[in-house]
Amino acid sequence: MKNIPVAGPSITQKEIDYVTEAVATAWYEGANRFNDRFERDFEVYCGRRHAVALPSCTSGLHLSLLALEIGPGDEVIVPDATWIASVAPVVYVGATPVFADMDRDSWCLSPEAFEALITPRTKATIVVNLYGSMPDWDAITAIAQKHGVALIEDAAESIGSRWRGRLAGGFGVFSAFSFHGSKTLTTGEGGMLLLDDDRLHDRVMRLRDHGRKPGDVQFLNEEVGWKYKMSSMQAALGIAQLERVAELVEAKRRIFGWYQYGLAGWSGGSLKADHPDLCNSHWMTTVILKGSDPMPKAELIAGLRKRGVEARPFFSPLSSIPAFKASEQAAAARARNVNAYAITPFGVNLPSALGLTEGDVETVCSALRQVVDGGT
Ligand SMILES: *Cc1c(COP(=O)(O)O)cnc(C)c1O
Repeated sequence: MKNIPVAGPSITQKEIDYVTEAVATAWYEGANRFNDRFERDFEVYCGRRHAVALPSCTSGLHLSLLALEIGPGDEVIVPDATWIASVAPVVYVGATPVFADMDRDSWCLSPEAFEALITPRTKATIVVNLYGSMPDWDAITAIAQKHGVALIEDAAESIGSRWRGRLAGGFGVFSAFSFHGSKTLTTGEGGMLLLDDDRLHDRVMRLRDHGRKPGDVQFLNEEVGWKYKMSSMQAALGIAQLERVAELVEAKRRIFGWYQYGLAGWSGGSLKADHPDLCNSHWMTTVILKGSDPMPKAELIAGLRKRGVEARPFFSPLSSIPAFKASEQAAAARARNVNAYAITPFGVNLPSALGLTEGDVETVCSALRQVVDGGT
């Protein structure tokens, strides 16, 4: 039986041609050609002043916190339900992550929960556009401005999403994308950091290159920094993918539409509801099981796997996972974050790979109905 994959890219001859050109030519005086072009293309796409190509989104979030001089004693508010990469950089710099509840409809940071957790120690918030969804960015921006909290946008899962017409990647002092192989636009591994501020950009450029002043050829490093760069081959892949971004996003939205059609009228679970201010690029179509006693996500995933369907659990609240469980902040979050604890145990990411056909989605929908309605 053919397995239906949960995630995966769309690679065409264009990508193969560009990467081939890079591996053959991006050396000597042409070494930075593809990186420069990928960054300039991304600045135009997102309407930002600076784009910095990186080995990952995680490194982009790390550089954001470093450039903002966030460290021990500082608090950073993060959504409780997200991938650990949104929060690990807070720990890298020695600051304290404060886990905020999700909004019940957007599944992203709740503006009310965010505001309620602000203290004099709060220096920043990392807001995540989860699974392509977006929070109420107007409310969150207003709260951040009122309290002087720096906004960092984790846009890893949301390329092509729009809030009131504005593209993901345009909402933070820093915004970061991931190009991991599972993401809508991929470079295998990779990331992009976007910002407008020239001083912060200069700081990022030094921190990401071992503390070298841009242009330094004497190896007279001014401080100890990090080494966060993307290769030319990855940048070439990214240029090709970005030329196809509208097509990639449209394909994700089409997959979501097939699921909407396939699960219409089903009472066992629901998909992400549309919101009039949001154009969701649906990185992962996600179902939340409903009812008085819904099946836990692990059981549903096991049942789907038996039927040749790969699926992934909705992220568990970080305050519940072993890495954070023992922290004081996690204990407070477990007592407080009712939406995260009510929704995430019953959420599953359905196959959303870019290579899926409508027939694959029909197969997934009937497997889902069998497992949930049939009870095994
Ligand atoms: C994938 C992902 C990241 C991390 O991206 P990397 O490129 O793997 O570092 C961060 N945040 C979210 C929400 C993600 O889904």
